Amino acid sequence: MIVLRAGHGTGDSGAVGPTGLQEHDIAADVVQRIGHLLRAHQVAVQEFTNNRRSEAMTWLRNHTADLYVEIHCNAATGKAKGTETWWYTGWGKHVAGCVQQNVVEYLRTPGGWYLPAYPDADRGIKEAVAGSRAGNCIRGAACGGLLLEMLFIDNRREEGLLRLPTVRQEIAQAVADGIIRAADTSGGTK
Ligand SMILES: [Zn+2]
Repeated sequence: MIVLRAGHGTGDSGAVGPTGLQEHDIAADVVQRIGHLLRAHQVAVQEFTNNRRSEAMTWLRNHTADLYVEIHCNAATGKAKGTETWWYTGWGKHVAGCVQQNVVEYLRTPGGWYLPAYPDADRGIKEAVAGSRAGNCIRGAACGGLLLEMLFIDNRREEGLLRLPTVRQEIAQAVADGIIRAADTSGGTK
């Protein structure tokens, strides 16, 4: 069982890009795409597309899950760029490695007019230590978790990428494949 939550929502748009793209809308769209792809591979999924984190945590306390996944867009100075994945606990780290590798590989591969090769996409995987922003998001999940910061929504170029359904679908595919691949190499998900 994989639990997916879109960052922000319930009145909080999250970060907003230079042309008005809203983080929560993009995260919710990608969560739905990941859910669809995982179900197609017979992986059980619980989605929280527009819910407070506390609702997801309550759900986790009452059910058995393999992994908790939050999807966000990054924001910093407008100039920062790339993808990073935060992890909590052992299996979370393994899956984070697979997801990060898949997303970066996609972004580095030329994909037509909308996606020239993007060599600086890899910001790596990072441990969501206690007290960190990502830690506050995912450490409540006893099953372990990961938080994907897809791209920087406040970077004009990356906002433009996030706006494209094709890019969102490919990122969702990269995440779903990463979860499935991690499950295959470590005993599977239920
Ligand atoms: Zn966020």
